[in-house]
Amino acid sequence: SHERRTPLSFVSGYAEVIRARMIGEVNSDQEAALYKIKRHSGELLTMVNSILEATKFDAGACQLESYTFSLVDFLDGIRSNYDIPLGKEVALIWDYRDDPPMVTTDGVKLKHILENLINNAIKFTETGTIVSSARYVPDRNSVELKVKDTGIGIPSEALPFIFDKFQQVDGSQTRAYGGVGLGLHIVKTFTELLGAAIEVESEQYKGSTFTLTLPVFFQKDSQKTSESTPVTDSHRSPPSV
Ligand code: ADP
Repeated sequence: SHERRTPLSFVSGYAEVIRARMIGEVNSDQEAALYKIKRHSGELLTMVNSILEATKFDAGACQLESYTFSLVDFLDGIRSNYDIPLGKEVALIWDYRDDPPMVTTDGVKLKHILENLINNAIKFTETGTIVSSARYVPDRNSVELKVKDTGIGIPSEALPFIFDKFQQVDGSQTRAYGGVGLGLHIVKTFTELLGAAIEVESEQYKGSTFTLTLPVFFQKDSQKTSESTPVTDSHRSPPSV
């Protein structure tokens, strides 16, 4: 994994060094090109990570770590990764009130899930909005995380298989969008590992909404959730994401 990720991190890191004018002046056309390098190398990194995660999972080497962290801080961290122009008429909107609770879960896996959903939303939306939201559902002691886009949508006959390995709605060689068809498979696998659930609603040419229902407390060893165990500040430790 090191051998595949490191060169990509160099591409993205050097693009950022140049964009930050650490090597010299950059004009606006060059800056736009640098944003594209950053965005596309980010997509490639997500793809490489998906392939690696799927391989790891198939090899039985997928490890779970649960720790307690503030969901708001966590979402702020994800949000900062998307603080670059998308190069299309799409507005990224973030809607998480300040009251989602502390959560105990595997933050690395949760980050992977959300970034996959957000990257797909960006990939398949040419105009409109992408709203990423979170809200606490007290009666289920869960958090509902949604990624809602106004993109191309998914035909109803394809909905049952989009979470399967290597499945893409348009699997042709001439397809307009990149990807390998592993992202949602990993999303589904990680969702189940975290004791969570994922649902999708979609209408073709109107958009899609993916909803992740995540238990606030996830017990790593039993891989079950406990609604009765209170999550207190004493559990707090920074997520290593
Ligand atoms: P890919 O690498 O092709 O993005 P995924 O497993 O992430 O693979 O997604 C599988 C397929 O589901 C995609 O190829 C696409 O056809 C469809 N899909 C996923 N997310 C969206 C979305 N937000 N809008 C429209 N189609 C989507």
